[in-house]
Amino acid sequence: MNAIMPTYGRIDVAFVRGEGPWLYDDQGNRYLDALSGLGVIALGHANPAIAKTLAAQSQQLLHTSNLYRIPSQEKLAEKLASLTGMENMFFGNSGAEANECAIKIARLYGHQKGIVEPCIIVADASFHGRTMATLTATGNRKVQAGFEPLVGGFARVPYNDLESIEQIAKQMQNVVAVMVEPIQGEAGIQIPDEKYLIGIREICNAQGWLMILDEVQSGNCRTGAYFCYQHSGIIPDLVTTAKGLGNGVPIGVCLASGDAAQVFGPGNHGSTFGGNPLSCAVALTVLDEFERLDIDKQVTAIGEHMLSQFSQRLGHLNVVREVRGKGLMIGIELERPCTDLVQKALQKGLLINVAADSIIRLLPPLIIDEQQADQICDIVCGLVETL
Ligand SMILES: *Cc1c(COP(=O)(O)O)cnc(C)c1O
Repeated sequence: MNAIMPTYGRIDVAFVRGEGPWLYDDQGNRYLDALSGLGVIALGHANPAIAKTLAAQSQQLLHTSNLYRIPSQEKLAEKLASLTGMENMFFGNSGAEANECAIKIARLYGHQKGIVEPCIIVADASFHGRTMATLTATGNRKVQAGFEPLVGGFARVPYNDLESIEQIAKQMQNVVAVMVEPIQGEAGIQIPDEKYLIGIREICNAQGWLMILDEVQSGNCRTGAYFCYQHSGIIPDLVTTAKGLGNGVPIGVCLASGDAAQVFGPGNHGSTFGGNPLSCAVALTVLDEFERLDIDKQVTAIGEHMLSQFSQRLGHLNVVREVRGKGLMIGIELERPCTDLVQKALQKGLLINVAADSIIRLLPPLIIDEQQADQICDIVCGLVETL
């Protein structure tokens, strides 16, 4: 036992050092990381450019608070706006905080239109975080059970089902927004039909609702575009991200466009740490490195390479229900529970994750090369073939 609250069923391995996609435990064993600390370490462990920025910024200025202008925050916001087509943004420290911000904007937007009990439509099997509002938005009873009373003002629909959103549009007068993940991550890399986001955009336009996309996991080039919604050619009113943006330094952001960008005024929201000089300097380096490495193209190419290997080697097996993915967000859904594979992979020197009990989830660092990708595929295929 130790003095940590037992909120995680932790695997008994302690990493002490990393380099690129590699991790080393306290016994000196080496592992290939196909999970990136849950999609965070996009540029790999101990990235030299990030280390340089961290060292330099720590000697210059760490924190001043948002009571003053923060030039690196302004620069980061401009850079993100130019990459995404969004207009302005609010910085926090995590995915849940970014989503809280989006939920607050949607509610205030409703109140400003005279809707006193604003309601946000959310999807089954979604994951939006562990704060009270975001766990209420989350479509997983395991995340909510025991924490009632939940927050009001959410209505739930099946994922990838435009019909049921249209149904709600006919029945309810107090809806202000639809909030979904463009690809559901925790649910096991669930990829909706190509027309899903476009359909939500159309409904939101027709109803005067805000379209909120949670790209905490799918953002930051994970799917081969800066944001996953960019594959669909739409622009949401609000989009949130966090995980890959700071390469391990906590940062989250809620970006807004159009009417949603005009909702907040002074005093409506805040964060002591959010967007401080340290996290913004690191995020700027992350974006510079993405650009320098042409990471979008690399992620698309390596992702397709991995997906085709998995399909060829596993697609025909009875135990495999589906192989799917976009960029380096890859899911292999099995016909039966497979959480034991995490430990088996670890013994072979590979870190993987299993989502929703039966779906192997891979989120390797975006910088993996073809040889490392092949190594991941070999080990995973080997494990699935022996089931
Ligand atoms: C991880 C995740 C969150 C929560 O992010 P935290 O930084 O853990 O608060 C929210 N939404 C999605 C889609 C996520 O994958």
